Amino acid sequence: MHELSLALELRTLIEQQASQDGFRRVHRVRLAVGMLSCVEPEAMRFCFDDAMQGGPAEGAELDIERIPGLGRCTACSREVAMEQMHDPCPACGLPLEPVRGREIRLLELEVSD
Ligand SMILES: [Zn+2]
Repeated sequence: MHELSLALELRTLIEQQASQDGFRRVHRVRLAVGMLSCVEPEAMRFCFDDAMQGGPAEGAELDIERIPGLGRCTACSREVAMEQMHDPCPACGLPLEPVRGREIRLLELEVSD
């Protein structure tokens, strides 16, 4: 499961930040998830709760901010909003090259000592 491995990576990242910055509890995690990243927010929430058990972010809220997809046509260089991977260019019908929306990024942690 894609979301579970991501959630476990996120836990490792949070644990690293916790020892680096000296906080013990995380109350809220803000995550940016691109629309083209193949990550389902609901599945991510579910895996997040599981993956954070026994760590600094156990019981933390997860806020997911969706980043809309944007693609560029390799033929006509037109930039078009993308709903999903492999959407074609509306002008030439060729598959768009995604330029935004595939990323998954930790935006912010709300923490206390
Ligand atoms: Zn085109």
